[in-house]
Amino acid sequence: MPQILDGARVRDEIKAELKPRVAALAATGRPPGLAVVLVGHHPASEVYVRNKIKACEDLGIYSETLRPAESISTETLLATIEQLNGRHDIDGILVQLPLPPQIDSKRILLAVSPQKDVDGFHPCNVGALVAGLPGPRACTPAGIIELLKRYQVPIAGRRAVVVGRSDIVGKPVALLLLHEHATVTICHSRTPDLPAVCREADILVAAMGRPAFVTGDFIRHGATVIDVGTTRVEDRDQIGRIFRNSEDKLAAFDKRGGLLMGDVHPLEVVEKAGAYTPVPGGVGPLTIAMLMANTVLSAERRRNAC
Ligand code: NAP
Repeated sequence: MPQILDGARVRDEIKAELKPRVAALAATGRPPGLAVVLVGHHPASEVYVRNKIKACEDLGIYSETLRPAESISTETLLATIEQLNGRHDIDGILVQLPLPPQIDSKRILLAVSPQKDVDGFHPCNVGALVAGLPGPRACTPAGIIELLKRYQVPIAGRRAVVVGRSDIVGKPVALLLLHEHATVTICHSRTPDLPAVCREADILVAAMGRPAFVTGDFIRHGATVIDVGTTRVEDRDQIGRIFRNSEDKLAAFDKRGGLLMGDVHPLEVVEKAGAYTPVPGGVGPLTIAMLMANTVLSAERRRNAC
C-alpha cells in the first residue's frame, strides 16, 4: 500500500511551531495581524475566509474581515487596500479571489504592499521567488514543499512533472521544486501525450481542476503523487464511474449532494503510487497553515525592521 501524505498532520505540526512565535510577538508588543478582504457573497469564498479566520483564532493572530459590497468599484477598493497598507497593526493583507467582474483584479493585487502580501501573488514577490530571494511564497505551493520535506520525500535530482501552469499553483510550485534541485517539466492543456510525460515523474503534481483526470496510466510505479485539485462533483453517475459504484461513496454523495474530488483518480493512484495526498485531507489543509506562516513571518520582519 502506498504511503498517505497526511496534510492535516503536517498542518497541525506547522501550527504548533507557529504558536510560540505568535506568543513571543504578542508578549513584546502585539500579535500578528491579518486583514481579509471579502467582496460580496461568493459561497466558496465565505467558507475559505471562515476557515482562515478560525485558524487565526486558534493561533492567537489578530484578524479582521472587511466585507465591501458586491457593487464596490475598483477605485473604492483600492482606497481600502491603501488604508490597510498604512495600518501599523496589520502585517498581512489577503484579498479573497475571485473578485466581481467590474473590479480590475490585477490593479487590486498590485496595490497590496509587497511587505504585507501574505498570498505571495504580488509581482515583486513572484520576482523574489524566481530569483530565489527571501519573500512570501504562494501558500499552496509552499505547503506542497513543506509536505514533501516533512515526509522526507527526496526532491534533489528527481524528476518532477507539474500539470497546470496557473500563477497561483502550477508556476510557483514548479519554481519551488526547481529551487530544491528537481528536474522540472511543466505541462498544460496543449502538452502532447500527457500520460507519457507524467509517467516520467518521480514527483507528479496535478493542479488542473479536472476531477479524476490523472489515471493510473499517468503514474509511474512508486511515484509520489500530489493532488492539488479540488472540484465539487455533483453528477452522481460520474461519482459511480470513478468509484466503481462503491455503495459507500454513492451514499456519501446522496447525503451531501456532491463530493469533493481531486485531479487524480482516487482508486488508481492507490494501485500505482508510492505515496500520495488524498482529497480531501492532503494539500488542502496546508494552504491555510502556510498563510498563517506567511503572516507570522511578515510580522517578525516588520518588527525587526522597526
Ligand atoms: P487554473 O488557473 O484553472 O489552471 C488550470 C491549469 O490546468 C491550466 O494551466 C490548464 O492549462 C491546465 N489544464 C486544464 N486542463 C488540462 C488538460 N486536460 N490537460 C493538461 N492541462 C490542463 O487552476 P488553478 O487555480 O491552478 O487550480 C487548479 C486546481 O487546484 C483547482 O481544482 C483548484 O480548485 C485547486 N486548488 C486547490 C487549492 C488547495 O488549497 N487545495 C489551492 C488552489 C487551487 P492551460 O494553461 O493550457 O489552460
